[in-house]
Amino acid sequence: MKEARASFESYATSRLAEEASCDRVAAPVTIDSLVETLEVYLDEKQIGRVRAAYDYAARAHEGQFRRTGHSYITHPLAVANILAGMRMDHQSLMAALLHDVIEDAEVGKKTLRRKFGAEVAEIVDGVSKLTTIFNSRAEAQAENFQKMAIAMAKDLRVILVKLADRLHNMRTIGVMPIDKRRRIARETLEFYAPIANRLGIHTIKVEIEDLGFKALYPLRADRIGRAVANARGNRKALMEEIDQSIATALRREGIDAQVVGREKHLYSIYQKMKTQRKPFNEIMDVFGFRIVTDRVDACYRVLGVVHNLYKPVAGRFKDYIAIPKANGYQSLHTTLFGMHGVPIEVQIRTRQMNATADNGIAGHWLYKSDDSTYAGPQARARQWVSDLLDLQQRAGSSLEFIESLKINLFPDEVYVFSPRGEIYELPRGACAVDFAYAVHTDVGNTCVACRIDRDLAPLSSQLQSGQTVEIITSKEARPNPDWLSFAVSSKARTAVRHALKSQKRSQSIALGRRLLNRSLGNANTSVKDLDFRRLRKVFKEFGVRRLNDLLEEIGMGNYMAYVVAQRLLAEGNPDYDAVSVERGGPVAIRGSEGLVISYGKCCYPVPGDPVVGHMSSGKGFVVHIETCNNMTEIRRRTPNEIIPARWSESMQGEYVAALRLEVERQQGVIAELASTVNQEDAGIEHIKVDERTSRLSSVLIELLVRDRTHLARVMRRLRVLPNTHNISRIIK
Ligand code: MN
Repeated sequence: MKEARASFESYATSRLAEEASCDRVAAPVTIDSLVETLEVYLDEKQIGRVRAAYDYAARAHEGQFRRTGHSYITHPLAVANILAGMRMDHQSLMAALLHDVIEDAEVGKKTLRRKFGAEVAEIVDGVSKLTTIFNSRAEAQAENFQKMAIAMAKDLRVILVKLADRLHNMRTIGVMPIDKRRRIARETLEFYAPIANRLGIHTIKVEIEDLGFKALYPLRADRIGRAVANARGNRKALMEEIDQSIATALRREGIDAQVVGREKHLYSIYQKMKTQRKPFNEIMDVFGFRIVTDRVDACYRVLGVVHNLYKPVAGRFKDYIAIPKANGYQSLHTTLFGMHGVPIEVQIRTRQMNATADNGIAGHWLYKSDDSTYAGPQARARQWVSDLLDLQQRAGSSLEFIESLKINLFPDEVYVFSPRGEIYELPRGACAVDFAYAVHTDVGNTCVACRIDRDLAPLSSQLQSGQTVEIITSKEARPNPDWLSFAVSSKARTAVRHALKSQKRSQSIALGRRLLNRSLGNANTSVKDLDFRRLRKVFKEFGVRRLNDLLEEIGMGNYMAYVVAQRLLAEGNPDYDAVSVERGGPVAIRGSEGLVISYGKCCYPVPGDPVVGHMSSGKGFVVHIETCNNMTEIRRRTPNEIIPARWSESMQGEYVAALRLEVERQQGVIAELASTVNQEDAGIEHIKVDERTSRLSSVLIELLVRDRTHLARVMRRLRVLPNTHNISRIIK
């Protein structure tokens, strides 16, 4: 079996190499046949420029050959031809012809600028910079994307030339040694195909996916290819029958439209089998048709006709005309029960939408300055690129960047409604926090709970299309770092990060100042009284430049205030007798003062609880309930790191407290619980239900309360519920 496989692979390999080397694939055009194509849409002067670029490139690559055995210039010609097929402008074609001269013929960018102008030189330079060694490590991938985003931000044509380059290289990949073939194929599937998709260039996306699939998994591709060919024969009669009945129905209504049958490409069949775990036959059982008309209103009339002809499947209709996809794609999608119950998938769109669906941003390149309505896909692409740059700048790490990018690249949206009926488009997997930020950054920053279709739900609930989402905000609320574990939209993630960062810094500085003042106070001085010009040396010692940086470090718990105070007092004062600086009285925890304070995740202190705190590097002053087990541990190891604390009188805000309780397993219990909590004006941050016995469930609730009295009131109310037992507050 193993041997059979090996021999099949070597057979497949030699066949791939053979196909890749034939003239039709490796060297499909000459400059004269390319010019013939150009004469259809470019003027004489522009064609002259393209010819000049060709002459220059041909000379530069003189004597170089490709693995297929053809002279090198056949490759840039083929790339230019692909772009000509998409009706790209003359500068893109010149850049395509010249795209390898920097890399392979050592021509400088300056020379190109002088001979062919700055724009062409920039595109060629951008394409050359994208020639990276791909590495599937996340960091390397992030770097590739960054390079691409920067190049694209300068000129979107860079990526179009690069995609055409990649397409031709994939057509001839069969001649590459196996390692290189796999690496390039994987890079194509993971990197270039999603980009082509994101830019809406469907034709290139489909072709490079199938080529990549064949190169990476020759055996699987071959098997699926054969199965498709077989199925085609069986399907033919039925396809024709459906085609005819739709066409006839349309004619009867006097609608001028074109009906074409569609076939899924190999890679998409493979993906469906893999991700949806569907057998091949089930995927092939679906019959796809596209109906193309001339006007938008005709699309909706066509929809009416097909829904009249066959029964539509409920819930499968999608109106991407009213709400285009992120890459600009527009179409109506519906699924019908055909004769004998076969599912028929129908796409309905205008000719222009069809062109956009095929070529995306490339489709209307030449019209860009003439007519603003054609700028749609390009404007979207520019927006995407600038989002991308934004994202990489703000992302916490390359892993974070790649994660956001994945969502960004596969924008399958969900649509949800605000209580007022406004529609919002969110990435798949989005939760209530994403929605809150989509409404407004302020709403996101202050959200505490939500209702989904009127029921209270955790902020982390994933949203489904069609739901109505209401966000409950509280003025005192702040973004929670935990949100980063479920928010998916880049807007939400960026905003949370940003809010946390700025909140942290100003709060740390304030806390640092307080702590330092307290320590200095024992020597009857304060931050204000120190001559900081004389103390630069001390700053340097602590690795900071300005006072605020030093205070922030103290506030974050990276330096102990009394250590810094002693150092500051001793500087330039040889007589200074280092008295031990006693720690002052308890820190008052006051929300309004903006200290960098976090609360122990173990004991969830709320105002009114007896508390202590300790400085924790990166978290600032962490407050715990005095009796928390974690404190006992710290008290044992480093007793003098524990700082007594008390709540300030004017304490305001909402605090998380955790309750554990048991409920009887019957319908409506959780809802009753939630509404009781709600009636007491407390919020639910999180509910987790674990099965305990067949009769009882154990429930963990994280509540938002104002203080200990408020919490006690909520607990009292819960205790009287008939189906609820053993309520206790969680303090580890
Ligand atoms: Mn190339």
